[in-house]
Amino acid sequence: MTRSSPILFAATTNPGKLSDFAVAAAQSGFSVEPLPQLREIPAPEENQPSFEGNARLKAEYYSRFALQDALVLADDSGLEVDALAGAPGVRSARYAQDSACEPDAADNPRLGWLGSNAVDVRNNLLLLRQMDDVAQRSARYRCVLALARAGTTLNTAEGSVEGEILKTPRGTGGFGYDPLFWLPDLGRTMAELSLQEKHALSHRGRAFRALLPGLSQIVR
Ligand code: IMP
Repeated sequence: MTRSSPILFAATTNPGKLSDFAVAAAQSGFSVEPLPQLREIPAPEENQPSFEGNARLKAEYYSRFALQDALVLADDSGLEVDALAGAPGVRSARYAQDSACEPDAADNPRLGWLGSNAVDVRNNLLLLRQMDDVAQRSARYRCVLALARAGTTLNTAEGSVEGEILKTPRGTGGFGYDPLFWLPDLGRTMAELSLQEKHALSHRGRAFRALLPGLSQIVR
């Protein structure tokens, strides 16, 4: 009889993060499944100044809604642009929403593919606008993963990947800022990578691999 893989319940409804976790899980010996009924649970306010703070907050909060011994995995991640003093950072998902002037996709219909949902498109348009005259375009993605059970964080891990912000998007894969995130060593954007390629070098893939040794101790 084969032993089934231990399950990590992902506390996210972000389809991009879930796709990344599916690839991570396939290569790890763990299963990652969306936390049941997540959409019915009121989301907590992500009010911490760091990725780690928000990842812990989400993991602890959502694990209180899960079965007592369930392992809940939360991800807090985002883009840090050096020329913007690290913005959008922990506010990456809400970058345009936070801004006084929310750009509209109709502002620039010929720019190219900026995402499959309206929030990503507006965030990317705002980023391009903020970097209009900026020559220094270095940036990084950062991700912190937190694992919690019954309201207590058991483990955290982080990963990052360095890149540059393009002036026009390339590729139609990934999500969020991927069509603008250029990987100089590969000569491609994150949106031009397969999910497997993204997992090998992304902030989320690196954070997941860093989480694994601690995870193996927890489920031993
Ligand atoms: P969170 O849900 O508060 O952690 O915010 C995550 C946000 O950071 C996403 O909505 C994207 O805007 C951005 N982000 C994080 N990881 C990625 C990625 O792998 N690709 C593209 N954008 C990402």
